[in-house]
Amino acid sequence: MDLHFFNTLTHRIEAFVPSSKTVGFYCCGPTVYDFAHIGNFRTFVFADLLRRLLEFKGFKVNHVMNITDVDDKIIQRVNTSTPPTTLSDYTKKYEEAFFEDFRQLNCLEPVRTPHATEYIQQMYDLIAKLLDNGIAYQTPDGSIFFSIQRYMALGGKYGQLVNINFDETKSTERIKNDEYEKESAADFALWKARTENDGNIFWESPWGEGRPGWHLECSAMSSDLLGKTFDIHVGGEDLAFPHHEDEIAQSEGASLCKDGNTAPVPFVKYWIHFSHLLSEGKKMSKSLGNFYTLRDLFSKGFTGREIRYLLLSAHYRESLNFTIDGLNAARSALARLDECLGKLKEIANNINPTENNSQFIQQFDEALSNNINLSQAWSVVFDWVRDLNRLIAENKLSPQDAANELSAWERVNHVLGIKEKSTVSTENIPTEIADLLAARQNARKAKNFAEADLLRDTLKQKGWLIEDTPKGPRLKKI
Ligand SMILES: [Zn+2]
Repeated sequence: MDLHFFNTLTHRIEAFVPSSKTVGFYCCGPTVYDFAHIGNFRTFVFADLLRRLLEFKGFKVNHVMNITDVDDKIIQRVNTSTPPTTLSDYTKKYEEAFFEDFRQLNCLEPVRTPHATEYIQQMYDLIAKLLDNGIAYQTPDGSIFFSIQRYMALGGKYGQLVNINFDETKSTERIKNDEYEKESAADFALWKARTENDGNIFWESPWGEGRPGWHLECSAMSSDLLGKTFDIHVGGEDLAFPHHEDEIAQSEGASLCKDGNTAPVPFVKYWIHFSHLLSEGKKMSKSLGNFYTLRDLFSKGFTGREIRYLLLSAHYRESLNFTIDGLNAARSALARLDECLGKLKEIANNINPTENNSQFIQQFDEALSNNINLSQAWSVVFDWVRDLNRLIAENKLSPQDAANELSAWERVNHVLGIKEKSTVSTENIPTEIADLLAARQNARKAKNFAEADLLRDTLKQKGWLIEDTPKGPRLKKI
């Protein structure tokens, strides 16, 4: 069955027809200036689900996720941090933290994770092209801007993802002091000239000292790694305008000739945007106490698999209300699944599968092929659990059947990515405690000892001590 989803570029649900068996797939990655929050992770978990779904469909996915390791916010943080630090030391810390969280959520490692600061030359090349065909211009302070008017005059289209009312843009956008010389309020910076506040963070470009604009970073990295045209670009809906619109303008603008006789080379064929996340019914904010990083949730005793499950419980085009109650419900749902899988394993007793339950896989495939209908897919999974529980209760499931069902689950779970519940040798350990132990083991494996210690303390508060033995960790009730 063909995969169908909503393409923001054409404003409708379309069948996905890739240019080859290898799909070029780009997701705007994290800006590494602080710990990422669950709203950020909704995007990354969805991108991961989509990549896994494409693999399930038989495609190879060339998944690129950039790391924004230079932008205004980062520069400001570096220059005001005590004790003093460097750009790379500062961003490295948050990048490592990001990937620890990413792994806790069982997101597959992207094929490439380019850093903006490693692609400065490609950014110069892109700026040079846009200056050459007259779309970009330099202001007296040395900054370089993209002219939307000149781009459109050469045949470029601005406003492909969202309808833009330029009059409104003009009247509502606050023009920052350092951008007062640009020709039009809607024009955006490709290159920002060095200012006093930048301290030592700048590059020596052919047009003077400065730093790249954020939109430019993604255009330069994606075309370098995936080519001028590629299949899928994903991101949070808040990035559609101006970030993604500007990515299109830069990349397609670079393909235009100054005489205006060329059609732009299309940048991306399918754009998918994920809806935003509410926390406890409201927009997340530190002052409302509903702002959660993954670390906050781990210290409350929740695990990556529970958070992933909750993040994947709503449709990608609908906002998700993330709540602590929802996490508790996720825990109960996963316990039902774990119990059934545990019984299947016991009955199958390690014999090899001879076939899959093809009906289960087919129904799951149909649900996700239909505009990635996750709630339908989950109900297929839980119907399967209910039916199996009945068969098991009636003693009607043979070891061979059980092995075949487990093999079907493996196929389905390649897409869902629910980590197997950790098995510990000690008996009678509650799920919550076992999951905390697993999270601590993962943290130790990732050499994040601070987090491992934090989880050990959480376990202690809950009445469990960890003893590290040559055979692995052992839990003891205090
Ligand atoms: Zn981007």
